[in-house]
Amino acid sequence: MAKYIFVTGGVISSLGKGITSASIGKILESRGLKVALMKFDPYINIDPGTMNPYQHGEVYVTDDGAETDLDLGHYERFTHTKTTKFNNVTTGQVYNAVIARERHGDYLGKTIQVIPHITNEIKERIKKAAEVSQAAVLIVEIGGTVGDIESLPFLEAARQFRLDAGYQNVFYAHVTLVPYIKVAGEIKTKPTQHSVGTLREIGIQPDALICRTEESLSEEVKEKISLFCNVRKEAVIEARDVGSIYQVPLVFKKQILDEIILSHFNLICKFSDLKDWEKNVVERALHPGGKVKIALVGKYIALQDAYKSIYEALAHAGIANNCKVEIVRVDSEDIEKKGADKLLAQVSGVLVPGGFGYRGIEGKIKAIKFARENKVPFLGLCLGMQCAVIEFARGVCGLKEANSTEFQLKTRHPVISLLAEQKKIKDLGGTMRLGAYPCKIKKNSLAFKVFGQSLVWERHRHRYEFNNAYRKLLEKKGLFFSGIYLKKNLVEVVELKGHPYFIAVQFHPEFKSKPDKAHPLFKGFIKAAQDAKT
Ligand code: GLN
Repeated sequence: MAKYIFVTGGVISSLGKGITSASIGKILESRGLKVALMKFDPYINIDPGTMNPYQHGEVYVTDDGAETDLDLGHYERFTHTKTTKFNNVTTGQVYNAVIARERHGDYLGKTIQVIPHITNEIKERIKKAAEVSQAAVLIVEIGGTVGDIESLPFLEAARQFRLDAGYQNVFYAHVTLVPYIKVAGEIKTKPTQHSVGTLREIGIQPDALICRTEESLSEEVKEKISLFCNVRKEAVIEARDVGSIYQVPLVFKKQILDEIILSHFNLICKFSDLKDWEKNVVERALHPGGKVKIALVGKYIALQDAYKSIYEALAHAGIANNCKVEIVRVDSEDIEKKGADKLLAQVSGVLVPGGFGYRGIEGKIKAIKFARENKVPFLGLCLGMQCAVIEFARGVCGLKEANSTEFQLKTRHPVISLLAEQKKIKDLGGTMRLGAYPCKIKKNSLAFKVFGQSLVWERHRHRYEFNNAYRKLLEKKGLFFSGIYLKKNLVEVVELKGHPYFIAVQFHPEFKSKPDKAHPLFKGFIKAAQDAKT
């Protein structure tokens, strides 16, 4: 039977519950346990797929094609777990399932209520995730902040879960803020006391507190938190701000959080020291040998979370190449106004990420033209590939009106367009080409050189595709179609010969990059940027 850890958050949002959950997963996995992680999101949308990045941040895509919360990206980057559609559950999904059952008549005339029907559905989802993953420990992160109306049913289900699964099989970890008040020169424990108080009102007594803090917590402060919150002193964990998120498992390990959890579960596991992680990831992230500047040309650059996996994948590529990747966030609309020469002159590489809608497109195309003509390393992702094709068609093949039908429905040269099967679809949610597809790589390509293999599986999230009617012409003019999804003859990778590194892909490699195993496309990109610099 699986053991369960519930991770809740208090005081404010953005305390890093996702990284905390992933780090707990990491320290337990290193002890030889198979871990899985899931997240509950207390909003009514079925999934974040239709939300604006400014509302939600990046949409993380799993192999099985679920559009999920970006915390699942942390789970996959920190541990070996593979997330699926069972690992992210929203209020919308829970209610949808219960209402569908009610309409079907499955409740035999009963009144349907939050307790027990909604909470039962939540508990079933937890058990399902444990069953599908076959994990020894399932970590369940509950989104939102304790005290929110929206997350109450999830907390209530978490409370009930200990009754069902048995006291020692369930562990509650609460992430809280311990602020330092500069003018008073003091650390304040009151917000934590209140948030634990709220949690106890619901019936949950935390077994550990993860205290987010700018300053170190003295023994005295820990004792106070322990006494007021009714948590053993050694389980009051200091989680001070660190230089790299990948340090967090080491911080927990040092305070024996793994032992605290294992002893609660009555589990005896092999010893581990996380030395490899420390040496190969943390040390390299904190002490890079050099630096390269990379421009990320997008339209959601103001929000830290909008391109989360891309920023992480670039950091991983830095770790692999022993250099710091300094990201210059360039608003593609600024390029439209000020020109690429001006905004991209100082960078050693240009990355154009995914996106939707026409706004900012012409700036992205200009950035790609700049990279192509000046032989600056370029990596295009999804929409970035579509823009690279449009740019090549316009700039090299003379098709001045080349465009995607996403931006101009009646364009004269629809080099990017919808497949017939996509044209029929009316609903927006969950209807794109989603999840992992195989891509056959041509042997004499840059893609083959970086991947080192001729078949790769990569994750997709897009509606539009390269239009094969233009393949011959573009090929003749020098665009190399080096990766194909054979079953449907869809273009997955394009590249340019005679350029140090110009490659663009229809998929999202950023979702599969790991801190100790950078994705080959990113690793190659940063290597090329380093070479370009010298
Ligand atoms: N808007 C494009 C499409 O739907 C690209 C999507 C993306 O970059 N994820 O095909």
